[in-house]
Amino acid sequence: MSRVLIIGAGGVSSVTVKKCARLPEMFDEIYLASRTLSKCEALQKEVGADRLKGVFTVDADNADAVAELINKVKPDLVVNLALPYQDLPIMDACLATKTDYLDTANYEPKDEAKFEYSWQWAYQQKFQDAGIMALLGSGFDPGVTNVYTAYAAKHYFDEIHYLDIVDCNGGDHGQAFATNFNPEINIREITQRGRFWENGEWKETEPLTVREDLDYQNIGVRASYLMFHEELESLVKHFPTLKRARFWMTFGDAYLNHLKVLEGIGMTSIAPIDFQGQQIVPLEFLKAVLPNPGSLAEGYTGKTCIGTYITGIKDGKEKTIFIYNNCDHAVCYDEVGAQAVSYTTGVPAMIGAALMLNKTWNKPGVWNMEQFDPDPFMAMLNDHGLPWHVIECESSPFAK
Ligand code: NDP
Repeated sequence: MSRVLIIGAGGVSSVTVKKCARLPEMFDEIYLASRTLSKCEALQKEVGADRLKGVFTVDADNADAVAELINKVKPDLVVNLALPYQDLPIMDACLATKTDYLDTANYEPKDEAKFEYSWQWAYQQKFQDAGIMALLGSGFDPGVTNVYTAYAAKHYFDEIHYLDIVDCNGGDHGQAFATNFNPEINIREITQRGRFWENGEWKETEPLTVREDLDYQNIGVRASYLMFHEELESLVKHFPTLKRARFWMTFGDAYLNHLKVLEGIGMTSIAPIDFQGQQIVPLEFLKAVLPNPGSLAEGYTGKTCIGTYITGIKDGKEKTIFIYNNCDHAVCYDEVGAQAVSYTTGVPAMIGAALMLNKTWNKPGVWNMEQFDPDPFMAMLNDHGLPWHVIECESSPFAK
């Protein structure tokens, strides 16, 4: 008997809820809580009250309120699909109630766009002492990309040296400017300075200034920009043989031009301003006027290609492999009414939850995805809509 409480009822959550609902043998009872009850009720109507047994409103910024809800529902696992700001209060509530925890994005303070695991890693001892487990970053990137890296290290190399994670959205949603997941979180992430790991230290670049034109499977050549992404931090820690680790994301010219203008006029700022006698945060206002990422799903065409290039040594010889998934927006829409970015995050959250509930991944403490055996996760990706492929490359596609 397993009981899961999912917090957050946005784009990613709707995919996770629907995927969990279809697997009664893994998820006996599903409960959903979020800030806006009507969104939870709408999902319950879609999947049925027999599978989504209860819906609640909760302010997940308030650890006591979350603990009270956990005490009422008594889940075996809390799946946090709210926003990164809520990671610590929800972890505190899990500690108070001795309940396992999973999320898809690392904690970020609301008043500072700072992406690092230090705050959540600081819970390691407390989670171990309480005999509970936290699985951090069980989305696609972070998440699947960490597992791809662990899988490559386990099956293809004696030692891994160079890591390049690439994230391409080759889709077209027909909007002038929109983000594919929560706009506030997304814009905070892409407007920060670029950062990558090389020869034992972090190196910084101006935001979105380092570009490579990469050829993506079943999509074609796309301009790809170096940026920091949170899984780099845990991967260089857990694979100390890495000499370099970078992350690349594709952006079209129209997207970058919009972003440049919005930044130039201060609309992406997170510093509050006075507006008609009220304090508002420009980026929060921008989020309110941009399309809801969920609304992009209908009519979205094209595919994503997210993967991991890894170069390392096997039997004394250098080689490079690419592990990747293609995900088709329209196919996701037909299956669960979502676009591929929500789908590629929501499915790994379900898989991580399933592996925790059935104790395949089971260790008290706070862990990143690459710290577990990748094989069962990789097998479930193939079974649940995110099949992957491995290509042995003749050489790395990146300029050395
Ligand atoms: P959405 O904005 O669509 O959904 C967030 C949900 O959380 C909303 O339902 C929102 O409520 C709820 N929420 C926000 N604040 C609170 C609060 N204080 N208390 C309770 N509920 C709250 O975001 P997404 O679904 O796009 O993203 C969800 C998470 O997934 C984010 O953390 C994001 O960073 C992460 N992500 C991870 C990826 C990966 O590959 N690892 C990729 C994409 C996203 P309301 O409806 O009232 O606003």
